[in-house]
Formats: sequence, C-alpha cells, structure tokens
Amino acid sequence: MRELFTSDHQLLRKSIRGFVEKEIVPHVGEWEQEGRIPKTLWRRLGEVGFLGLEFPAEYGGGGGDFLSTVVFAEEMARCRSGGVGFSVLVHTDMSSPWLTRYGTEAQKRKYLPGIISGETVCALGITEPGAGSDMAGIATRAVRSGDHYLVTGNKIFITNGVYGDLYFLAVRTGPGRPERRHEGISMFLVERASPGLQVSRKLDKMGMWASDTAELAFQECRVPVENLLGEEGRGFQQLAVGLQRERLVAAILALSGAAQALDDPVAYRRERQAFGEPLAARQALRHRVADL
Ligand SMILES: Cc1cc2nc3c(=O)[nH]c(=O)nc-3n(C[C@H](O)[C@H](O)[C@H](O)COP(=O)(O)OP(=O)(O)OC[C@H]3O[C@@H](n4cnc5c(N)ncnc54)[C@H](O)[C@@H]3O)c2cc1C
Repeated sequence: MRELFTSDHQLLRKSIRGFVEKEIVPHVGEWEQEGRIPKTLWRRLGEVGFLGLEFPAEYGGGGGDFLSTVVFAEEMARCRSGGVGFSVLVHTDMSSPWLTRYGTEAQKRKYLPGIISGETVCALGITEPGAGSDMAGIATRAVRSGDHYLVTGNKIFITNGVYGDLYFLAVRTGPGRPERRHEGISMFLVERASPGLQVSRKLDKMGMWASDTAELAFQECRVPVENLLGEEGRGFQQLAVGLQRERLVAAILALSGAAQALDDPVAYRRERQAFGEPLAARQALRHRVADL
C-alpha cells in the first residue's frame, strides 16, 4: 500500500498528539460544560504553529501541504470532544483559507497574522433560516453606500459565531435570475465589532457543546468596501471551490473521532478484569467490537 505521509508528517503527528494529550484532553469536559473553548487555547495553538500549517510562510504560516492539515484534523479529533476539534478546524480550514485564495495583499497583511496567532478567531456565515443546502437561496443583502456596504439579514448555525472575531460572510449584492439563482452573491470579511452586527442567540445543540453556535442579526451593518473578498457577484463560485476542503476536513474529523471512540472501549476491555480475566477474553464482547 502506498504510504501517503512522509517522515515530516509523522513528526508533526507526534507533536500534535502530544499537545492534544497534554493541553486539551484534560480540559475537554470543562469546555464542553462551558460551551466554548478558552482564548488561551487559541493562543497556545497559535504559539506552537498549528493554526497556520498551510498558510504561506511570508504571513507567519508553516507553508505546509494539505496532508499536514489531514494530520492536524485526525489528531485534533482524538481529543474526545467533537466540539473542540470542530471549532478549531472551522477556523483553520472552513473559513480562513478563503482569505489566502481570494484576499487582496492588504487584506492578507491585515488579518492573516492574527488568524495564525489565534488572536482572531474565524467563522463562516452562509446558512440562513431560509437557506441551508440550497446556498443560492440566501437573502441577506448588502447595498453599497459610499465607501461602505450596508448588510441586512440573518445567519444561523454559525460555528464560532458567538465568540469569534471575523466572519467570512456570504450575502447578496445583486439579484439572481430564475435560471441562474447563484448569481449576485458576494463574500465579505466582517469584523465582530462592526456597527449593526448582533449575536442574537447562542444556540443549544445535542452535542459538540464546546463549539459555540450562533444566530446572527445584521441591521444595516457597516462593512468597508475594502472588505469585499474576491470579486463582487462571484461569491457562489468562490464558496463552491472552498467547500470541497470544508467537506473533506469535516469527514476526516468524523472518521478519526469515531476511531478514537472505538479505541477507548477496546483498551478498557483489555484492562478491566471481571471473573478473574480481562473483559476482552469474553467472546460475546469480542463479537460486539467486531460488529462495530
Ligand atoms: C453543528 C453545526 C454547525 C454548523 N456550522 C455552520 C457554519 O459555521 N456556517 C454555516 O454557514 N452553516 C453552518 N451549519 C449549517 C449547515 O451548513 C446546514 O445545516 C446545512 O447546509 C444544511 O442546511 P439546513 O440545515 O438548512 O437543511 P436543509 O437544506 O433544509 O435540508 C434538510 C434535509 O433535506 C436534505 N436535502 C436538502 N436538499 C436536498 C436535495 N436536493 N435532495 C435530497 N435531500 C436534500 C438535506 O440533506 C437534509 O437532510 C452548521 C450546522 C450544524 C448542525
């Protein structure tokens, strides 16, 4: 079988695994209860270079390849909290990569260092109460007014939306046509402190509590024209390009988290003694593991 990972990837895996075991695993219960991960974790992840693995070195990133991200996602998912891994990977791989791909030099210089250091936590704002899978159905709109756009509408289910600092927002800057509904969508970089932006609700979820999920309200929210990301009206196409990475990373998190969820009880069966032998010696329990 072809080995995908090089010795550099293996070294990276070792260092991320050590970090996760030492600095994340002992705290995940507390963070799940609190419904957020602390700023100190973001800063530590930034300090050790894990938030910028693939970002260009000239902005403070590691200049690594996609397999470095695969390693990062696999190891983060093993922290035994779906929420922690999801929050962090939304920041590193499901929002900020649009900046390196479509951002101007000025936008990259302004935002990337904070993103890589963990000072600026990112979120992706596409979903709305009336539009989820059907991304072309978004209704939040931006109207040009001098050197600003005024954004009005609502977003929902936004990961890192409650405590994040920078939203990668998809909005309508023009109407679509019935046969080309995806036209007229644009992307913007919206800072948390923008006037007219409000976190209207922190949403409850069945699990993954450590990743905060928001409903956001925009009421003529003022966004400077220089915060348009990429080309006006090409937001749908830009999003479609980046969503491949988003889905891949989400799948890696799910698979690796599931593998960990199986590894833990398998190890426990070996350690736990009952009736004079390890639980693993019981054929019925071995069958159950085999079924999984
Ligand atoms: C934990 C969590 C975190 C999230 N984080 C973010 C985030 O950070 N940013 C963001 O923008 N969004 C986020 N979302 C929203 C997520 O992207 C949407 O939930 C997703 O796009 C689906 O949209 P929807 O929930 O409106 O479902 P709908 O689009 O209403 O779909 C409902 C059901 O119908 C099915 N369906 C829809 N269309 C079709 C079709 N054509 N054929 C067959 N079946 C179909 C869907 O698969 C689904 O099962 C998050 C969601 C969750 C649960």
